[in-house]
Amino acid sequence: MRQGGAGRDRRRRLVTAAAPAGSCHCARVSGVVAIDFAPSELQLSLRAAIEKICARFGDEYWLERDRDGKFPEELYRALAADGWLGLCIPEAYGGSGLGISEAAIMMETIAASGAGFSGASAVHMNIFGLNPVAVYGTDQQKQRMLPPIAAGEEKACFAVTEPDAGLETGKLQTRAERHGDVYVIDGAKIWISTAQVADKMLILTRTTPVENVRKSTEGLTLFYAALDRRHVEVRVIDKMGRKAVDSNQVFIDGLQVPVADRIGEEGRGFEYILHGMNPERILIAAEAIGLGRAALRRGTAYAGQRVVFGRPIGQNQAIQHPLAECWMELEAAELMTRKAAWQYDRGIACGPAANAAKYLAAEAGFKACQTAIMTHGGYGYAKEYHVERYLRESMIPRIAPVTPQLILCFIAEKVLGLPKSY
Ligand SMILES: Cc1cc2nc3c(=O)[nH]c(=O)nc-3n(C[C@H](O)[C@H](O)[C@H](O)COP(=O)(O)OP(=O)(O)OC[C@H]3O[C@@H](n4cnc5c(N)ncnc54)[C@H](O)[C@@H]3O)c2cc1C
Repeated sequence: MRQGGAGRDRRRRLVTAAAPAGSCHCARVSGVVAIDFAPSELQLSLRAAIEKICARFGDEYWLERDRDGKFPEELYRALAADGWLGLCIPEAYGGSGLGISEAAIMMETIAASGAGFSGASAVHMNIFGLNPVAVYGTDQQKQRMLPPIAAGEEKACFAVTEPDAGLETGKLQTRAERHGDVYVIDGAKIWISTAQVADKMLILTRTTPVENVRKSTEGLTLFYAALDRRHVEVRVIDKMGRKAVDSNQVFIDGLQVPVADRIGEEGRGFEYILHGMNPERILIAAEAIGLGRAALRRGTAYAGQRVVFGRPIGQNQAIQHPLAECWMELEAAELMTRKAAWQYDRGIACGPAANAAKYLAAEAGFKACQTAIMTHGGYGYAKEYHVERYLRESMIPRIAPVTPQLILCFIAEKVLGLPKSY
């Protein structure tokens, strides 16, 4: 049934009046939640501004960073100079106080520019990484810790994963022992991104031995500590892709951290980390979609230009259809990502949507990268065509911060109500 013009206008007015900054606006109309998918003015201008900055860093820049492994400091500085690194940090602490919906648009735009995960991961920590500090820190800690991250004056890394714990965070063994006004930290972490360039480290440690707690996720404590290299050895991992953003083994030996750098209460660190997990999944999803779109753009352009058997290869359905499928899957993943962000920004439980978004986006991004290579044939294997770099990077959102298997377990258990399998 067609809706009358007056009804449509009324709805639009209600929607506009009700909508805070968010990727979808909603209003309650006669008990029904109406969602309008139009991006806000602010979101459109944010995307345009980020696109403009990223346009200064072309494919050759990223190819070079992939070769030399140098941190993309120039992009980091350019985003900092225009105030984008503090997008989600509250205004009172030097940021813009915007939501995860806006952050997702920013990260998708960076990745889609061709910067992929080399660009997105370089600023990922600034955008939302200090959420536990913003939520659970004292006012004094926020005054001290957030402005340098918003301004891009400091870099931080996030140290959770351990060699012998893997996804079972409750098994982590890095110890923090209190001696008066300081904690002394000893242990080892693995895969810690940006630890080569970071000044600070948001680190999860064990303060109460696992034998003395009811659940293994209790007795863990979070610190935002100075990365003092006299007590922290950072060994780079030679890895598959995203060479410009380092991942490392981190060995901590007698690192002294003042009590003033403990975030929240002793023993509740896992809870604080958990709070930031959904928004992190949303951002990773957005980055995977951006990377997938960069690959799709290249694959499609090549399909239109490359002539074999007297016609563009893109005239063949066997070339067209996989590209069309990738477009649909990326669009669908984007909708789930926007739904999750919309829920998070309104304080609605977003676990299922955030996990689904991360899963769907990572798989769609990966497939788009693979398809772009196959569309290029042999040339897709050459670094000069960029898509092989994208494929290597597309593995990251599949594995981190959580694997597809564990997301399926979460959905089966928490959404479908099936018994926990592990
Ligand atoms: C490039 C990169 C950057 C990273 N950056 C960081 C960072 O900055 N900070 C940080 O803390 N960590 C970081 N990580 C670590 C990342 O979060 C972990 O690799 C990820 O959580 C998986 O842990 P794991 O590698 O120890 O896998 P494991 O826990 O050893 O799991 C191995 C495999 O077994 C599967 N598996 C395990 N248990 C089950 C089960 N019950 N059912 C089904 N399957 C199961 C997993 O899904 C996985 O496929 C990064 C990783 C990479 C690759």
